[in-house]
Amino acid sequence: MSVLGRIHSVETLGTVDGPGIRFIVFTQGCPLRCLYCHNADCRSAHDGKEVTVDYLINQIQKCKSYLRKGGVTVSGGEPLMQPDFVKEIFARCHQLGLHTALDTSGYCSLEIAKPVLEMADLVLLDIKSYIPELYYKVTNVSIEPTLAMAKYLSEIGKPTWIRFVLVPHLTDNIENVEKLADFVATLTNVERLDVLPFHKMGEYKWEQLGLPYELKDTPSASPELLQQTVNIFRDRGINVIGGSSEAMGAISLREERSRKLERADL
Ligand code: SF4
Repeated sequence: MSVLGRIHSVETLGTVDGPGIRFIVFTQGCPLRCLYCHNADCRSAHDGKEVTVDYLINQIQKCKSYLRKGGVTVSGGEPLMQPDFVKEIFARCHQLGLHTALDTSGYCSLEIAKPVLEMADLVLLDIKSYIPELYYKVTNVSIEPTLAMAKYLSEIGKPTWIRFVLVPHLTDNIENVEKLADFVATLTNVERLDVLPFHKMGEYKWEQLGLPYELKDTPSASPELLQQTVNIFRDRGINVIGGSSEAMGAISLREERSRKLERADL
């Protein structure tokens, strides 16, 4: 019997969550409570829609011809809340010859995550800050599982992209960025690091859910702040994507799409 999982939505022409054109599965449910969450409607584990892996693979097969140079990314929410489901999606994608990527916060026990990581060709690991107290303030959870996963991915040589959201007056302090950069520089598997400038395009979802949006008065990251942050990573020899209008455009594109991807699309 096909494994069941709970998803928020899918996107058939993703361009920012891994290489090439990708089919993106946004899983439902997340244990984090990021202050800047752009997908607040993905967080409750009880919402979304239950689907089988067979159903998703059927959808993916319809797009297969243009996924050849891209692949399939499972994002969220937090995909590692549903490890068996994600592992099965990846296994079936491999049978179709498709590249697989896992977009995760890393907040999961390593023992649970390992079988899924094994099946992912690429991991997009979001490290939302480095100073533990700040990480907790941003996410409401501990940073330890994420750092443990980052070290493990380096040990096994898993291709990894790190993502860091730059939020003025929250994650942008120099000590936080420098410590994160020092840590990332110790990893041997990181192909690139994306600095994603904070924006408020997901604010309307908080309003729809009746949740208070604490970052209402936080400004967008300025080009100068973005460049200064990018330089801290580049100074340590890290391949950084960010600070360009291309990166900003890609993020806007994804958010625009996510507005359209409501459950009716399933
Ligand atoms: S990990 Fe992602 S989905 Fe979960 S709360 Fe943070 S931003 Fe939202």
